[in-house]
Amino acid sequence: MAEILFHNTLTGRTEPFVPLVPDEVKIYTCGPTVYDFAHIGNFRTFVFQDVLRRFLRARGFRINQVMNLTDVDDRIIERAAAAAIGIREYTEKYIQAFLDDRRALNLEPPEHIVRATDHIGDMVRLIQILAEKGFTYTSEGSIYFRIAKFPAYGKLSRINMSGIQAGTRVDVDRYDKADARDFALWKAPKPGEHFWETPIGPGRPGWHIECSAMAMKYLGQTLDIHSGGVDLTFPHHENEIAQSEAATGKQFVRYWLHSEHLLVDHEKMSKSVGNIATLRELFAQGAKPSTVRFLLASVPYRRQLNFTEESVQGAASSVERLRNFVARLRAEKLPPGADEGMAARVAKASEDFDAALADDLNTAQALAAIFDLVRDANTAMDRGEFRQGDAAPVLGALERFDAIFAVLTDDDAAKLRALGIGAAGAVVTEAEIEALVAERQSARKRRDFQASDRIRNELSERGIILEDTRDGGVRWKRK
Ligand SMILES: [Zn+2]
Repeated sequence: MAEILFHNTLTGRTEPFVPLVPDEVKIYTCGPTVYDFAHIGNFRTFVFQDVLRRFLRARGFRINQVMNLTDVDDRIIERAAAAAIGIREYTEKYIQAFLDDRRALNLEPPEHIVRATDHIGDMVRLIQILAEKGFTYTSEGSIYFRIAKFPAYGKLSRINMSGIQAGTRVDVDRYDKADARDFALWKAPKPGEHFWETPIGPGRPGWHIECSAMAMKYLGQTLDIHSGGVDLTFPHHENEIAQSEAATGKQFVRYWLHSEHLLVDHEKMSKSVGNIATLRELFAQGAKPSTVRFLLASVPYRRQLNFTEESVQGAASSVERLRNFVARLRAEKLPPGADEGMAARVAKASEDFDAALADDLNTAQALAAIFDLVRDANTAMDRGEFRQGDAAPVLGALERFDAIFAVLTDDDAAKLRALGIGAAGAVVTEAEIEALVAERQSARKRRDFQASDRIRNELSERGIILEDTRDGGVRWKRK
């Protein structure tokens, strides 16, 4: 099997991946800040992390993954106060929505999903350790991390520290590299704000300390992999390294993996452009869960992903092609025997699929291996050269594919219903209909009436009626 290589942001190099303890991989992934519904840019990162854990498990590793839910930060406190409710009550709705959205996308639950507000004591203890070691100072009731005391500060994001004045502070959780300063570990409460009474005084944690505290609580002082969106590299992950390594004196994370941005129609998602889409909005517009998962997984994580109407349609027809192929494989009456050429073909496709994923999760390459196999198997079937004994190995290759990509089970309608999105959300597009009609025509041509009936029934279930014309053509209309 091909050696696993990951691009490590910390070294800037693509390196062989070897976990600290054989057979077990400790992963920490920064979860969402639950002040609103997560958007598709967030889900790009979560899908990448899901592909990562599924691939490592397919390679025989035991996975121990922690994901946090940031249920206290500047924005949550502000919005909960505006709504005149507690932060726990405010975030509950978005936590549930996030977990429901994850299920719709077939994202496996990490071994630990943990809330920041359940770990205030762990954060306080970590801040106490940092204080004992002289890495902190207090100003007006807030506690700051003194970055000048940690010479390695900036090693992940490679910021230039020369222009940074020692002792200047930043109070907000999110800021730019240009504002690299001493950051808040603990914030004194402002009037009317939610706060905790603790041994280090009344207040609330800064955003960064939560991930260090929860990661080390569940995974120990050194993790194998820490991942997140590229936006988190600075300041969040830089600050996590500073807090954790200052406290333990040990390397915090061995491999840092960061996923690139998702663009919508070539533009970065932003409030000012008004192109931020939540998963539910996409579903309500007719995109299927499997389509979105496939699309988000199909572009290797370190490349920008451009989300467009065409890319959604392309992903939908790709999933459709795979599902139709599996249905054909199960339904078709095949001649007896087995073809040696096909066995070799399957072995090669499986090897290429695994090698592509081992190469820093090159999902595009992995998909190419599977689609090539499907094309060749379809051609062999059309020619009557695909035999009974070839079906099981091909299905096996598709199972290995689906253990990672998780799109073959046709349960989109049930998933949409679970999210409260009805049939209106599952409108079949004209392009989809045309593709299925063309597929049915070719099935009829090769006298595969089983496949042709299956497609007719599928369209009927989705509200499309087909009428065969006398000249052998076909018309369709919506019911
Ligand atoms: Zn984090």
